[in-house]
Amino acid sequence: MAKLTVSDLDLERKKVLMRVDFNVPIKDGVIGDDNRIQAALPTIKYVLDHKGKAILCSHLGRVKKEDDKKGLSLRPVAERLSNLLNKPVIFVPVTEGQQLEDAIAKMDDGSVLLFENTRYEDVVNGEYVKRESGNDPKLGEYWASLADEFINDAFGTAHRSHASNVGIAEAMHQAGKPVAAGFLMEKEIQFLGEAVNNPKRPFVAILGGAKVSDKIGVIDNLLEKADKIIIGGGMTYTFYAAKGIKIGDSLVEKDKVDVAKSILEKGGDKIVLPSDNIVAKSYSNDAEHKVVEGDIDDGWMALDIGPKSVQEFEDVLKDAKTVVWNGPMGVFEMPNYAQGTLNVGKFLGTLSDATTIVGGGDSTAAVKQLGVSEKLTHISTGGGASLQYLEGKTLPGIAAIDNK
Ligand code: ADP
Ligand code: MG
Repeated sequence: MAKLTVSDLDLERKKVLMRVDFNVPIKDGVIGDDNRIQAALPTIKYVLDHKGKAILCSHLGRVKKEDDKKGLSLRPVAERLSNLLNKPVIFVPVTEGQQLEDAIAKMDDGSVLLFENTRYEDVVNGEYVKRESGNDPKLGEYWASLADEFINDAFGTAHRSHASNVGIAEAMHQAGKPVAAGFLMEKEIQFLGEAVNNPKRPFVAILGGAKVSDKIGVIDNLLEKADKIIIGGGMTYTFYAAKGIKIGDSLVEKDKVDVAKSILEKGGDKIVLPSDNIVAKSYSNDAEHKVVEGDIDDGWMALDIGPKSVQEFEDVLKDAKTVVWNGPMGVFEMPNYAQGTLNVGKFLGTLSDATTIVGGGDSTAAVKQLGVSEKLTHISTGGGASLQYLEGKTLPGIAAIDNK
């Protein structure tokens, strides 16, 4: 169903509360990768260009005790945002109260304010009360009272029901005020939603990563929807075990062999497994390694798919119109076992006729690190959230946005 978006709102002179995802890595007050701040810019700029008053909020890290707050202030983010926008950002070092309300009352049209880490509310008077992450309705109500409109642009937390996304949205509904998706959220819903619910066919899913157990929900859902499912990465070898192929010392989840068996039965020739692998003497980049087809001998562990598998996968992928990829094909963190992931990524980049989508925390990191992300259609900004989307679940943060 189409969601209300920021471009549907009348923003001029309005107090526009925006939930963004500024959960960036910060060490000793210095921001590492500022991708998430950059990703929020289009919606923020749009609100400012349309003379709204942008009141931003976000969580940062996890606050479980008073002491955690020190290293988790959003102040450095306000400074970085100010540089990126090339205009002042009012930073309010609290999450509620007079100081915040006064600062908002003084805002000019087209100005921007960021208040402190919403998860500061998880610890009150030294007690871990989870007002934010437990979605205390009073807190959502309070934040909603600060604004005329609410925009949720934090896809990364859409799978969680917190006060700063769901709580605010519910209180806005109660008060008859609009709740819209930001551009980033809109894009995620558009690409992931289309792929899962209304894909151009053939629709091929590539599933890899470490464990079958993490991905059962995704496999189950996509088994119904995709035309082919390519399996790679560490979970391959649990499927090997289910088929009676020897796996040597490769990663295996013994208690999931039966699940793998039933997936194989249900999927039939929809499921494509790698036929060869890079096997190594130990879990190390410098270990002796070689390519083997089929059975893997004891004393060897598979850490990547082999070159023949890459070709076979390419053959399945070449006619695809929609590709969803979650989970690296091997231990891409080690250069000697990154080839499978790299080559699959490169090939996807050549499919000019297909919509190619990557979801998942490590998968996103992998395509970026290996330099293949630019040519793909959509790299999801939410790890856990994109997985839950691929599982076909309703994400509470999205459900709470108004339909058009
Ligand atoms: P995502 O976060 O994208 O959902 P996962 O967390 O499921 O992905 O999987 C990523 C991890 O899987 C990586 O750290 C990678 O090293 C590991 N992995 C991939 N292939 C293998 C393998 N053959 N053996 C062990 N680990 C693997
Ligand atoms: Mg992961």
